[in-house]
Amino acid sequence: MPTETFEFQVEARQLLQLMIHSVYSNKDVFLRELVSNASDALDKLRLAALRDDTLDADTSDPHIEIEADQEARTLTVRDNGIGMSYDEVTQLIGTIANSGTAAFLAELREAQEGAGGDGLIGQFGVGFYSGFMVADEVTLVTRRAGESQGTRWSSRGEGTYTLENVDEAPQGTAVTLHLKPADSENQLHDYTSAWKIKEIVKRYSDFITWPVRLVTAAGDGEDAPEPETLNSMKALWARPRDEVADEDYHELYKHISHDWRDPLETVRLQAEGAFEYQALLFLPAHAPHDLFTRGQRHGLQLFVKRVFIMDDCEELLPPYLRFVKGVVDAQDLSLNVSREILQQDRQIRLMQRRLTKKVLATVKDMRSADPDRYRTFWREFGAVLKEGLVTDADNRAALLAAASFPSTHDAEEPTTLAAYAERMKDGQEHVYYITGQSRESVENSPHMEAFRAKGVEVLLLTDPVDEVWVDTVGEYEGKRLRSVVKGEIDLGGEEDEQKTAEQEKHTEEYAGLLGWMTEHLADDVKEVRLSSRLTVSPACVVSDSEDLTPALENMYRAMGQ
Ligand code: ADP
Ligand code: MG
Repeated sequence: MPTETFEFQVEARQLLQLMIHSVYSNKDVFLRELVSNASDALDKLRLAALRDDTLDADTSDPHIEIEADQEARTLTVRDNGIGMSYDEVTQLIGTIANSGTAAFLAELREAQEGAGGDGLIGQFGVGFYSGFMVADEVTLVTRRAGESQGTRWSSRGEGTYTLENVDEAPQGTAVTLHLKPADSENQLHDYTSAWKIKEIVKRYSDFITWPVRLVTAAGDGEDAPEPETLNSMKALWARPRDEVADEDYHELYKHISHDWRDPLETVRLQAEGAFEYQALLFLPAHAPHDLFTRGQRHGLQLFVKRVFIMDDCEELLPPYLRFVKGVVDAQDLSLNVSREILQQDRQIRLMQRRLTKKVLATVKDMRSADPDRYRTFWREFGAVLKEGLVTDADNRAALLAAASFPSTHDAEEPTTLAAYAERMKDGQEHVYYITGQSRESVENSPHMEAFRAKGVEVLLLTDPVDEVWVDTVGEYEGKRLRSVVKGEIDLGGEEDEQKTAEQEKHTEEYAGLLGWMTEHLADDVKEVRLSSRLTVSPACVVSDSEDLTPALENMYRAMGQ
């Protein structure tokens, strides 16, 4: 097959433009991305070989090699991992499959004005393209393990790439960057210099479980050293806490999450005893854009005795913790463990319970120890966590203890239920809430008037899931959760008894009008009655206590029910 030229998709082209006119202050991270891909490829090979013993693959010395050529100004990152077939190269490298890409690009352009661009890219998995930050041409030669034909991909990042078959290609993938000349002016940015490469690998990729070796093709013989292993390959989760710097944890997080930003919180857990395992979990600082998209991949990385077994192991955490990233290394599972086995395994269920409790306890602790951090966390992930109030009865109390809600008490600061309960007025029996689309719309609801007049605090619940959990949970420490829009509300007090008497009088007076209105509105409402709940608005629509709230009605309607 001759060399063929293809055009990048529009989105891919835009991303490449961003890379070429780099949005990053820190270009060093391109190497982290390439090493990270190489490491993934070795993990995949190991797994493929484990699953399929007929696979004709070389697994004898899995490693990553970085070869720098100062004369030619090239840098090659090579692995002998799983490799890619011709079709895979077109799918994985030539296009950006992610449907959120367009939205991302818009966001990125905005963020570029400020300094926020760095973080966004990582969320969208465009790691490979980052090579174009430092190179004006990138070539990739790859051969999939078990296949005989190799593929060469090449591009100058200017809208097209070429693809061709190659006969002689070693198993795995080699990515060669033809470095931009500009970078050689400054020693700091000379990516062919050994110390620079060592420094970057040490900083970003030390924990990679495969050896990363440096090969310098300086050629003069004199100072051409033996390939040197640059990383310590130490499993961070197995090392004592005080031996590991926060930065090291953060780099591991970036490797497994493909996020470029630091995590908000690191959670360690060492389980000893009959079923031994170590877990290193991370709470990200930002919700991914697809958090509420169904069928998105999520879950932890599972290792068995330091050997990578699988990505996206969903069985280790409940769905409402799907944003948590991390690694679990179990000592007593079989290397051949499959998803089917995991789904039924009792130990896995116990692990899930323990990990869940640990995460919830961490969130709760964070609230007192570091309120700012907690605020960020809850802003990003509160809506997901509240799903747990519905689905995880066992941890309901822990979830309620970790949760906070916007309320009329403070325009800025959300409240906990405990703090709400403390502020409850004498004689107030219930915890009041209102649900709706936005804070503004619920605050302006006529149903709020009486509460405002009496100074009774109301929780302002505006996430779709709020509708559901308030019903499922029902009460907090013996106090009913009551919607301010449902049924008769008696806010108590002598004043009100007087009012009731007055109201009865009024009802008699207005009996004619009310009867007439009830008749004429018969198709739309059950009953028209006088109300004491309004102070400004002339009328409002109220549901029966058992009826759906208007927001929930809207939600069901939107779902076509
Ligand atoms: P991500 O790593 O987030 O998936 P990248 O842009 O870094 O995104 O890589 C895109 C895809 O290309 C990878 O998911 C992988 O399937 C493939 N790929 C990249 N580098 C390699 C490699 N060295 N070996 C095998 N496949 C690779
Ligand atoms: Mg990658």
